[in-house]
Amino acid sequence: MDSGPLPLLFTTFAVGAAFLLSCGTPAEAPPSAQFHRSSLKINKAFIPEGRYGRHKTRSMSPRYITLHSTQNRGSGTGARTHARLLQRGGLKSKHNSLGYLIWHFTVDAYSIYQTLPTNEQGQHADYEGTGNRKSIGIEMCENRGNSRSATLDRTARLTAELMRRHNIPLRNVIPHRHWRMIRYSDGRDLGHKNCPHFLMTNGRPGSKWQSFLTKVKSYL
Ligand SMILES: [Zn+2]
Repeated sequence: MDSGPLPLLFTTFAVGAAFLLSCGTPAEAPPSAQFHRSSLKINKAFIPEGRYGRHKTRSMSPRYITLHSTQNRGSGTGARTHARLLQRGGLKSKHNSLGYLIWHFTVDAYSIYQTLPTNEQGQHADYEGTGNRKSIGIEMCENRGNSRSATLDRTARLTAELMRRHNIPLRNVIPHRHWRMIRYSDGRDLGHKNCPHFLMTNGRPGSKWQSFLTKVKSYL
């Protein structure tokens, strides 16, 4: 995600969300043995057409897949919660051209939610840059109690599926950190964000990022 007032919004939201959602879903079996292509379930929870960041629809032919993490540790802030938040315009941004943060998929240990069609641009990476104009945005959840390894595994399978569907090569699967952020509102150069932070090594793609790509490759 981009910078700005997000942490405060999320904190406020997380408090409410804790009452609405239960994360007491039973743990899953080890992922590697049970997963195959046909088992990938994607819940559709689109932002309403014409509203909340979809009021200015901009078409897209995706050439990249950009990975993020939510940086939201609040309990109950899993994939469904984020989808519902986007669906009601809950993530405003005063610095981008849409006025909202929006992205395509959110993944946690148990589920995938899609909030934006892959042929529409999001606002999740670099304001008016290539990251938003040409890439599918995937957010990985970090809520307390959510298994990171299961989340990474599910994300790798989704990434592989999207690569197949859109003919995107592995070299175009990239971390948010890759995109330079030039803020839309005032042209300020915000540089590169350390995102997804748990896949970066000293703020850059290194061995952890390579392991993730290896996992993606195993599902192609
Ligand atoms: Zn990000």
